[in-house]
Amino acid sequence: MSLSPIVATLLQHAETTPHRPCIVFDQHLITYADLARAVAGWAGRFHSLGINRGDRIALALPNTPAFIAAYFGAQLAGAAVVLINPQYRHTELSHLLSDSEPAIVVATTENEAFITAAMPESRPHLLKPLAELCGAPPADPGLFTPPAADEMALIAYTSGTTGRAKGAVHTHASLAANCAAISTAWRWTEHDRLLLMLPLFHVHGLGVGVHGTIRNGASLELHSRFDADVALQRMHDPAITLFFGVPTMYIRLIEAARHQGVPEHRLRLFVSGSAPLSPQTFADFASLFGQPILERYGMTETGMNLTNPYAGERRPGSVGMPFPGQEARIVDRTTGQPLPTGQIGEIQVRGPHLFRGYWRNPAATAAAFTADGWFYTGDLGFVDDDGYFHITGRSRDLIISGGYNIYPREVEEVLAQHPAVAECAVYGEADPDLGEVPVAAVVTNGQAVTAADLIEFCRMHLAAYKRPRRIHFVTSLPRNALGKVQRHLLADAVSNHR
Ligand code: ATP
Ligand code: MG
Repeated sequence: MSLSPIVATLLQHAETTPHRPCIVFDQHLITYADLARAVAGWAGRFHSLGINRGDRIALALPNTPAFIAAYFGAQLAGAAVVLINPQYRHTELSHLLSDSEPAIVVATTENEAFITAAMPESRPHLLKPLAELCGAPPADPGLFTPPAADEMALIAYTSGTTGRAKGAVHTHASLAANCAAISTAWRWTEHDRLLLMLPLFHVHGLGVGVHGTIRNGASLELHSRFDADVALQRMHDPAITLFFGVPTMYIRLIEAARHQGVPEHRLRLFVSGSAPLSPQTFADFASLFGQPILERYGMTETGMNLTNPYAGERRPGSVGMPFPGQEARIVDRTTGQPLPTGQIGEIQVRGPHLFRGYWRNPAATAAAFTADGWFYTGDLGFVDDDGYFHITGRSRDLIISGGYNIYPREVEEVLAQHPAVAECAVYGEADPDLGEVPVAAVVTNGQAVTAADLIEFCRMHLAAYKRPRRIHFVTSLPRNALGKVQRHLLADAVSNHR
């Protein structure tokens, strides 16, 4: 299939297979024809509000079919979509709204007040609460010319795990290239149905889940949020063939399945991404569900980069190999030179799936690419003898203690094996002698354990310089909407807990 915009593919499916199911939501079935009509309705309404090509339309909506219709409707009207987590409040909203300057924000009545309060006063913005736009009269999709492949389709803000969220600009072509690669790698067909419980305001849910479904003329069952019990119950449905999640979702699924049993299911693929999947979770899931999770690695700026093989060995602790049509390599962070097998360096990626730059930030864009088009991911890793990539962490999380490099993930994986540890995060604390020393924030599962016990446990498994010097017991770790630990908030979380 060609790399035409996904919205064009959607209209095509609506022509050729109008009655095919597209979205199942809350017991309602929405066919391709239904969705195309709703998309045209939204496009018509946006058009009548004076949207021009290249304008931005921000969506601050929960997971509903209306989100998907408004998203493609905005694109059909020639606008680029800005995705906003509907849980965002003043600080996050004012950053996103003043940075992206949307002409229209679509929001629910529930979060309308927060959005109005966060709007920059100098610029008028139209706010169209969801209820008002849902009533838009249906329009004929044929009235609109789908956008060209190189037009801006989406400004997706990064998760803000390491600091302020940055707007990554994707074109219809970069999104379509990404989708084509995923479809080939994971053998996505029209017979697949995805159980989608990820948020749509992130590329994981939208760019992988929704785009992949529509590109392949498949269907998805959309849920407003993840719930492990509901997920297990829905997996009984023989129509469901795919599930995409983040590691915390798999941890919750394993816990729930241990209580209520593993569903009899027909799923052919469970994918994990967005954060590291521990080998322990990989093993626990495989033994319960009889299937190894396929781990993949991607980011807002690039879509998907690396995947474990669909057929063949899926290695725990590894994110596999580049997607078809893409390249990845490991380079020395300072010289930019490629490194040999086994050596840790920065992961660089290249291919048609890459974003076109950071929104209104040419300096950050220039710093992110080499002259020959390689993108610096900011992640560290190595390639093993068989060509499988392993991610050791983000370069900015690297702890340098007395000249030694310590990768937090390695220490976290050891700590996680202790029977009293439910969750942990390792980070650096300033040290007058060594520059930095590793320390750990630990959530226990209720079993009694002391800091000395955990430090001793690490001493048995790790070189002395890697063992945490201090353990801070906390009740939870600061995580963002995708369950990623926000390391820059760890020190605060620890001191608030004291
Ligand atoms: P920000 O860029 O604002 O700090 P973020 O990097 O978390 O936020 P995303 O683009 O959502 O925002 O996440 C991409 C990052 O998630 C990757 O750069 C990588 O650090 C991490 N990641 C994704 N998949 C994996 C994986 N399978 N294993 C380890 N890390 C992963
Ligand atoms: Mg990032």
